[in-house]
Amino acid sequence: MSETYQDEAVRSTKSASALTHFINGKTVEGTSGRFGDVFNPAQGSVSARVPLASVAEVDAAVAAAKDAFAAWSETAPIKRARVLFRFKELLDRHHDELAELITREHGKVFSDAKGEVMRGIEIVEFACGIPNLLKTDFTDQIGGGIDNWNLRQPLGVVAGITPFNFPMMVPCWMFPVAIACGNTFVLKPSERDPSCSNRLAELLKEAGLPDGVFNVVHGDKVAVDALLVHPDVSALSFVGSTPIAEYIYTEGTKHGKRVQALGGAKNHLVVMPDANLDQAVDALIGAAYGSAGERCMAISVAVAVGHIADELVERLTPRVKSLKILNGMESDAEMGPLVTAVHREKVVGYIDSGVAAGATLVVDGRGHQVSGHEKGFFLGGTLFDNVSTDMKIYREEIFGPVLCVVRVPDFASAVELINANEFANGVSLFTSDGGVARAFSRQIQIGMVGINVPIPVPMAWHSFGGWKKSLFGDHHAYGEEGVRFYTRYKSIMQRWPDSIAKGAEFTMPVAR
Ligand code: NAD
Repeated sequence: MSETYQDEAVRSTKSASALTHFINGKTVEGTSGRFGDVFNPAQGSVSARVPLASVAEVDAAVAAAKDAFAAWSETAPIKRARVLFRFKELLDRHHDELAELITREHGKVFSDAKGEVMRGIEIVEFACGIPNLLKTDFTDQIGGGIDNWNLRQPLGVVAGITPFNFPMMVPCWMFPVAIACGNTFVLKPSERDPSCSNRLAELLKEAGLPDGVFNVVHGDKVAVDALLVHPDVSALSFVGSTPIAEYIYTEGTKHGKRVQALGGAKNHLVVMPDANLDQAVDALIGAAYGSAGERCMAISVAVAVGHIADELVERLTPRVKSLKILNGMESDAEMGPLVTAVHREKVVGYIDSGVAAGATLVVDGRGHQVSGHEKGFFLGGTLFDNVSTDMKIYREEIFGPVLCVVRVPDFASAVELINANEFANGVSLFTSDGGVARAFSRQIQIGMVGINVPIPVPMAWHSFGGWKKSLFGDHHAYGEEGVRFYTRYKSIMQRWPDSIAKGAEFTMPVAR
């Protein structure tokens, strides 16, 4: 963080307004006395102060959710769905407003923020089908006079802890499905861009959600740790970086909770020699530099197979140099700033390390300035060629607008390279050969695969999740996996008195 930037931040903090928690249907002022700065990344100034909850404030949110659980879990699924239908209408009506909140605190361009809101709405649309999703199996006459069926019952109070890079979509991966299943929810959103969550809470209330079913408590490690050990929290959904995901999974399960913890990524896009190069270049530019690379499904490694490498780098170079990097609210912006000055410095550090390690720096985004936004957290698009797997820029998640080209001789080497990586969130292959595409889909050890699709984020009716260090736990997010995560399976066997055989039975019951 530069000194000038720090001075600006300190000056702005005094005048910035304080945000609130949302507990039991009401906005609640922070009482811990601790606050974090929320920035407008395009301006480089503090736009608000977010309260950082104490353990007592987390306890209050969990208590509200616990009180609301009895009535909400007994509410008929169709009535829960009706609240979500009304919520969906409100989201449609406030689509632009939500997108603007995202752009102003995250920095991504407005059109991209609108896409994020749409992806969140789609999960709500999925959750509106909950009466059907909760239908279960029934076997008539599984034994003499006995029927067997199962129930999927809600868990109780469940919590979500979310990252900065999708302040609307990632919370929507969790709470619509969780509350549709009859649970009550405590959301601890990222302290970097907290405003969207408060607006979602207000809209849920307007849609008729009873108080206490959805609560927002802002904070940092203190709030997260309080949720991890709270005896009344039954399950935790986490999305964020790998070290924190692993910590959440270990601590949460140690305290008897069901946990799904989605972590970081290093996503590769393989360009085969027979790929349509125009399409592959477009795909790489959008997937590497969209949202300034701050996406868990961003492509950060282009794997150039065989002779295609020189032409690929040649075609990428002018495109990276000419990216329209502007305040995300400007209509022709293709890429906005990074989320904070600290994160920008971290990404610059990675570029420095790539140069020091001997990778070829083809386009250098360091020092990029946006006129009229000199204090904004902007960085230009950066392109490295001849990156090798021992380099830090290859091994670690950069989470910035930096694309690394790795050259390999053939398809088998590409598969081997990707399968050796510890991350396994998403991957993409560009080819015109169906046989190669099929082999790739089957051999690659990655949770989400795109064939001629650069960012294969599953739609709401499928489920999202990586493998290896990109996901800790057994369930992927949303879709039917989400319904399974947020419900407990119960089997019921039933026989009525007129069919009960006379006398006690001392042997294991078997079908008659
Ligand atoms: P982060 O891990 O720093 O923070 C995520 C959440 O954890 C936040 O709510 C934060 O307050 C909390 N947290 C941070 N440090 C903590 C600590 N020491 N103890 C307890 N809680 C803590 O992640 P981020 O920087 O907000 O988001 C970017 C990361 O999220 C990237 O690694 C990205 O790949 C990942 N991500 C993954 C997915 C996925 O689906 N796999 C999706 C989006 C983002």
